[in-house]
Amino acid sequence: MVDLRSDTATRPSAQMRATMAAAEVGDEQRFEDPQVNALCERVAELLGQDAAVFLPSGTMCNAIAFRLHLDRPGSEAILHRTSHPILYEGGQPAAYSAGMVRPLDSPDGTFTGDDVRAAVHDPTNRYAPRSRLVSVEQTANEPGGRLWPLERVDGVLAAAVEHGLRTHLDGARLFNAVVATGTPAERWASGFDSAWIDFSKGLGAPMGACLAGPVGFIEEAWRLKQMTGGALRQAGIVAAAALFALERNVDRLADDHARARTLADGLAQLPGIDIAPAEVETNIVRFGVADPVTWCAELAEHGVLMAPLNATQVRAVTHLDVDDDGIDAALVAAARIAG
Ligand SMILES: *Cc1c(COP(=O)(O)O)cnc(C)c1O
Repeated sequence: MVDLRSDTATRPSAQMRATMAAAEVGDEQRFEDPQVNALCERVAELLGQDAAVFLPSGTMCNAIAFRLHLDRPGSEAILHRTSHPILYEGGQPAAYSAGMVRPLDSPDGTFTGDDVRAAVHDPTNRYAPRSRLVSVEQTANEPGGRLWPLERVDGVLAAAVEHGLRTHLDGARLFNAVVATGTPAERWASGFDSAWIDFSKGLGAPMGACLAGPVGFIEEAWRLKQMTGGALRQAGIVAAAALFALERNVDRLADDHARARTLADGLAQLPGIDIAPAEVETNIVRFGVADPVTWCAELAEHGVLMAPLNATQVRAVTHLDVDDDGIDAALVAAARIAG
């Protein structure tokens, strides 16, 4: 089976497993796990932030950060309508963070400083929720792994400063952006009040994410980590995999991007597929077919898994467990069921 449903499909490699097995570990809650300590230091340094905390998942990074930033019930977060907290976190901004969301729209998941200025409520207007947070997703997942240009990020951060908004970077796939643009992680992340990266996506670790920010913010994040059952013990087993991933699996994301482009170019040749290959900027390919559920079921019969994204579109994601042969196999299977 060639599994292109998500880059979360990666399994730890033999070398990664060997590193995990050999890792010296301790109780991370007492800061006695050398792997977790090293990972948090490394991530803080990479993102240009003061401190970081290891968490089981990216969703918990968003949830804890939103709860800390939306510090009074009814405060509002400004973010794209396709962002992960709006679509895929079970209503977290409302249920866990007691917040409102202000969804912005655009085809590629990005927005501008002026979009933020237009969305901010007058703080003296007691009818409106209190604008409090702006959140950016790099790369933008649902729109197809799209890249935020640096000027747009800087524009949003400038607007946030003008209006006293907190800023949060959902960097689940930040390293895909780093590799695609050549701009270092620190340049993308250091201007935000909080930022995080995921190890269980393209980086290929089995689980885990790190949330970074100022020392006081990370201390508060630890309180919520405890409260939500995210405080772990010998987490170094998985932190060792994350350290391995940062060392070994970042530069190779360029291969995933090249394969996504090959897949998109090949799909563009087939009848019945609606795709814009130029919009494939990282490792996610989105395209239209008449009936995504049936199309994916037929593709699976030929040994290739892709995922229906909505009523009209299919999503395919390249990752380190799919090689050139896997992409060839996917194109052969798609050609068989086309037309
Ligand atoms: C996957 C993802 C998350 C959540 O990360 P998990 O580790 O799966 O909980 C958050 N934001 C974006 C953009 C993602 O793609």
